[in-house]
Amino acid sequence: MSEDSLEREPSVAGIGLQSLEKVRADGNVDGRMPAKRVASGSPIPMMLAEIERVYRFFDDRFFGGTLPTEVALALEPAHVEGYFCGRRWRQGSKMLGHMAVPVTVLAGGVDEVMAVLLHEIVHLRNYQVGLPDCDPVSEYHNCHFRDVARLVGLGCADRHPKRGYGDTALTDKARRAIAALKIEPALFAWSVGGVEKVR
Ligand SMILES: [Zn+2]
Repeated sequence: MSEDSLEREPSVAGIGLQSLEKVRADGNVDGRMPAKRVASGSPIPMMLAEIERVYRFFDDRFFGGTLPTEVALALEPAHVEGYFCGRRWRQGSKMLGHMAVPVTVLAGGVDEVMAVLLHEIVHLRNYQVGLPDCDPVSEYHNCHFRDVARLVGLGCADRHPKRGYGDTALTDKARRAIAALKIEPALFAWSVGGVEKVR
């Protein structure tokens, strides 16, 4: 699949974004209150757009474009690890998977973000084909996880008694794919800290 055709496909991260297409030049959405941008300084939309591009690229490169085109991609608070959940979003009978990248990994730069994404893409792919690869309670990652991880250029550490093959790291194969993406490092060069809350 060419990059051109990738760009023309519907958004995978686009839950709710369809409504943006209805925003008229005057900022009204279907005659409702003008839609004002209140978070124009937020780095999140740019990061999500890039994560979406990366997802499509990895799908094309490692799975021949067979991964789902509908999945919710998200950046999540620091207290969670990266994860994939196959049926997190529901709308009537429709269900969507959810793939989350924790904001803590931003401190590790582009490589760390890509490592998390690839790890979760492995889970997504195995879920898609009905192959259980991780115990939901113990988080033991089995050999099905390990084998597909190798396919996307992730090396697995020796089997851990509790986490199995869950400890993954980029190999040269993954690094070559990431280099081909030409990601702007500044895009993910944020650290997220502080716990102050307004109650
Ligand atoms: Zn995992």
